[in-house]
Amino acid sequence: MQIAHTITDLRHALQGRGRPALVPTMGNLHDGHLALVHQARPLGDMLVTSIFVNRLQFLPGEDFDSYPRTLQADCERLEAAGCDVVFAPSESDLYPEPQTCTVQPDPALAGMLEGQFRPGFFTGVCTVVMKLFWCVFGGAPGTAVFGRKDYQQQLVIRQMVRQFALPVEIVTAPISRAPDGLALSSRNGYLSPAERTQAIELSRALHALAQAAMQPGADIPALEREAQAALAARGWKPDYLTVRDRATLRAPAPVQAGSLVALGAARLGTTRLIDNLEF
Ligand code: AMP
Repeated sequence: MQIAHTITDLRHALQGRGRPALVPTMGNLHDGHLALVHQARPLGDMLVTSIFVNRLQFLPGEDFDSYPRTLQADCERLEAAGCDVVFAPSESDLYPEPQTCTVQPDPALAGMLEGQFRPGFFTGVCTVVMKLFWCVFGGAPGTAVFGRKDYQQQLVIRQMVRQFALPVEIVTAPISRAPDGLALSSRNGYLSPAERTQAIELSRALHALAQAAMQPGADIPALEREAQAALAARGWKPDYLTVRDRATLRAPAPVQAGSLVALGAARLGTTRLIDNLEF
C-alpha cells in the first residue's frame, strides 16, 4: 500500500493503474469506514482512500482542532483491508492558498437540515469532494463510495456530480451500527460512558417517529414536534427530527412507505450526533 502525502505523489501512484475507486474520509477510521472500503474494492482497478480533515466544512467553534487524527492506525487498518493507495495530503498541499474558489451547492437541497444548522457545511464538503475527485480521477471515469449515514450529503454530492457532468459514479453504503444500534461515528469517541449508553436514544426516536408517521391520518409536523420534545426531555438538544421524501428531502406528500427517510440531529452533552432511517 502506498501513502501519498502530496497531489504529485498521488498522481505518480495512480499512473497506469487503471480506473480508481475512491473512499473519501476524514480518518479516525472505524468499521463503518472499513465497510465502505470493502464495498469499493471491486468497483475499480485500484482502491484509493483519502484521509483529510477538511477545515472548510467546520464552522467556527466546531471540533476542527480536536477532531481525532490517527493516521498510523488508519493506514494499518487500510492495508489489512486491501487498500492500494492512501491519499493523506497536508492542508498546505491540498489548500496551498486560501480556497476562495468554492462549489456552492443548490440551497434548495443543501440549505435545509444539516445546511440550516451548519451553514457553509455543504459548500465545504462539495469543494473538497470536487477537489479530491479532480486529484484522484483527473476528469477520467471512476467510482466514489459514500455512506448513507450522511444521508443529505450523498444527495448533495449526487446533484453536484450530475449538474457538473462529472464522470464519477456515486455508490452509497448502508449505515454501519454498533451492536446496540448506534450509528458508528468518529464523534462517538467524544461521548462519556454514560452518554454512550444513552446515545442509542436518537436512533430509537427515529424508529418511533417513522412508525408513527405510517399510521393512517398521521399529522407529521405534530409527530416531529413530539419526537423532539421527547428527546429534549431526556436531556438532548435536538436540531431536527423529521420525516422527508427520500429523493428531495422535502416534506412528503403523500406519506408513502418505501419513499421516506426519518432524519435526526441532536446534541448529547457537547457531542452532536446524526442518524437516519429509510422506510
Ligand atoms: P467521515 O470520515 O465521517 O467524513 O466519513 C467518511 C465516509 O464514511 C462518509 O461517506 C460517511 O458517510 C461514511 N460513514 C461514516 N460513518 C458511517 C457509518 N456508520 N455507516 C456508513 N457510512 C459511514
